[in-house]
Amino acid sequence: MDVKCPICDTVNQINYHSPLAKRLRNRRKHLYLCPTCSERIEKKTKMRHATGNFKLYQEKKDDDPYIQ
Ligand SMILES: [Zn+2]
Repeated sequence: MDVKCPICDTVNQINYHSPLAKRLRNRRKHLYLCPTCSERIEKKTKMRHATGNFKLYQEKKDDDPYIQ
C-alpha cells in the first residue's frame, strides 16, 4: 500500500500485511514517517535527552509575602 511521509512528502510502498501497515490502518493518528525522517527525528530526540533539555517537573515554591 502507498504511504506518504507528512514531513517530506515522499511516497513509499509498504507491505499491506506488514505490522506497520496494520497499525496505520487501525490507528489514524499514527503517522508514517519515511526512514530518512524517522532517523532524523530519532536523532533529535536523543540529542535533546543528551543535553538534558527536556522539561522536568519542578516544585514551585509558594512565595506569599503575607504569610511569614
Ligand atoms: Zn520523510
